[in-house]
Amino acid sequence: MKRFTRLLPSLFALAASTAFAQPQFIDAKDATETTRTVNRAVLAELPMSDKQSFEDARRGLIEALGDQVIVGASGRPVWSLKGYEFLGKEEAPDTVNPALWRHARVNMANGLFKVTDRVYQLRGLDLSNMTIIEGEKGLIVIDPLITTETAKAAMDLYFKHRPRKPVVAVIYSHSHVDHFGGVRGVISGEDVAAGSVKVIAPAGFMEEAVGENVIAGNAMSRRAQYQFGPLLARGEKGQVDAGLGKTTPFGTVTLIAPTQLIEKPVETHRIDGVDIVFELTPGAEAPAEMIMYYPQFRVLNMAEIATQNMHNLLPMRGALVRDARFWSKYIGGALQRYGARSDVVIAQHNWPVWGSERVQDFLKKQRDTYKFIHDQTVRLMNQGYVGAEIADAIKMPPSLAQDWSTHPFYGQLKHNVRAIYQRYLGYYDGNPANLEALPPVPAAKKAVEYMGGADAVLRRARDDFAKGEYRWVAQVTSQLVFADPVNQDARALAADAYEQLGYQMESATARNAFLQGAWELRNGLPKVPSLGTASSDVARALTLDMFFDYLGVRLNGDKALGKTIVLNWKFTDTQQSYVLNLENSALTYVADAQAANADATLTLTRATLDDISMQKTTFPAALQSGAITVTGKREKLSELLGMLETFTPGFPMVEPRPVR
Ligand SMILES: [Zn+2]
Repeated sequence: MKRFTRLLPSLFALAASTAFAQPQFIDAKDATETTRTVNRAVLAELPMSDKQSFEDARRGLIEALGDQVIVGASGRPVWSLKGYEFLGKEEAPDTVNPALWRHARVNMANGLFKVTDRVYQLRGLDLSNMTIIEGEKGLIVIDPLITTETAKAAMDLYFKHRPRKPVVAVIYSHSHVDHFGGVRGVISGEDVAAGSVKVIAPAGFMEEAVGENVIAGNAMSRRAQYQFGPLLARGEKGQVDAGLGKTTPFGTVTLIAPTQLIEKPVETHRIDGVDIVFELTPGAEAPAEMIMYYPQFRVLNMAEIATQNMHNLLPMRGALVRDARFWSKYIGGALQRYGARSDVVIAQHNWPVWGSERVQDFLKKQRDTYKFIHDQTVRLMNQGYVGAEIADAIKMPPSLAQDWSTHPFYGQLKHNVRAIYQRYLGYYDGNPANLEALPPVPAAKKAVEYMGGADAVLRRARDDFAKGEYRWVAQVTSQLVFADPVNQDARALAADAYEQLGYQMESATARNAFLQGAWELRNGLPKVPSLGTASSDVARALTLDMFFDYLGVRLNGDKALGKTIVLNWKFTDTQQSYVLNLENSALTYVADAQAANADATLTLTRATLDDISMQKTTFPAALQSGAITVTGKREKLSELLGMLETFTPGFPMVEPRPVR
């Protein structure tokens, strides 16, 4: 029987402790003349004289964290800005896109900041921001960061300078882990149970917070390594930023369920004397999200709907695609209702914008960034163009491009265009050749053979590399690698092309992707440290439907051929019952039911299932200890468990997957 490993992969579990970083610089090359020329041409187009972001990012600083290390229980480093000292230089090196370089420098501002009277922010202590509002008797904390360690450090820094008042409410702006994971660093479950702290979240929060990363979680975890670059060394030839912030921490993720949900499109509540207008923004940046307006302070909090960059409509880790049209509409609505009534707009990433006029200008440009790419993509789509063509055709209008906040430091314009195409039309471009296209390995083998063999392709690809045609060289050498992954010359040239593209990318996430790909072409798959156990709070919050759905996606269809197994499940502590049915190589379930013809009946507690999810025990051990009892044909359970696969996040991304 196999263990239930990695039931809950966390996208941020694999974070950027420098201890895990790969030794990037052994092989990293310099920028070529072409890359230098490209990056210098970019520089000439940028509004470099506009230094406002630096001022905004530093305004109200009370105390910086600097290069202090936030440590976990065993003294393990959880978070530090150490290693980013190279960003002290104003001029971008040739190996970093100058717009990204500037953004990476602004994102270095960190510490406790006063936004306005009674409104404070902790920035640069994690990927996300914590906002603290001082109520009449206590504190309202908005978004307790990703980990308990960083959240606690944030509260400590705040209390060092401000009166030590109790936290009376925690608000989760949305369902992504960087906005709730550190909650137990701020409040305890006992405080919530005793009613002394409210936990407020948008409708649908728990389902999305727990469910968004379960089914496809393993694939997302691996792809997130490419998106955030936690395995890359920090440096001019490595990771410089993550767009929304510097990087992700390596600590303890927790979750306390909300006690109050915001369910109407707009709701106003008075919390500890503070009026808060909540507006739901579902289907945009997150499936469950809300922005807030604090009229007494004339502060608008756009959560993650308007940050200091063009966000992504589809994260590179993978997700359900987001709606650019709604996204723009929410920003437009906020502008209309609160723009003129706000002296400052804050967000749960990056830095604020002060002054009503600047607030409105910022919101207009954010609104139009998403609408422009949406409408222009759909226009060209309706003219018959496909994603790759539209991605190359769309250029942002100068009125937007001359504003720093619209630049794709987190998202990538080309990827966003394809996301819009995908939202409306899907992956299929309408050309039936692509319905029956060969998969990467056989297609690559045929193509290389037609082109006269690998040596001939390499010769021409080297010429094109010398001419600076990195996009094509990356494409064609990737085919060489898929045709023959042990062709070291092909791998080396592919890595060089990926690397130069990485150096040119304005998007931090695209840069990370290319550089991680280059690293793996040169060094093979990274040795990723064990993820350890899943967050126990998140495991406990998993619904049984999600649990059985996840079992289903682990079923090896071939091993299940011709098998029929029916199992009754009884959970004695929660009084829940399920029937699990294997038939036609598909695992299905029905809740609140028991089958009369079941092969076996399992009796257990939900607590035992949680222990298995958290890898505190295993199915066989729980059977042995009697924590799970089975009546009927016990071997049917073993048979089913033997058909389940265990996922590990170390699969190949830039070279052939093992033959199945
Ligand atoms: Zn976030």
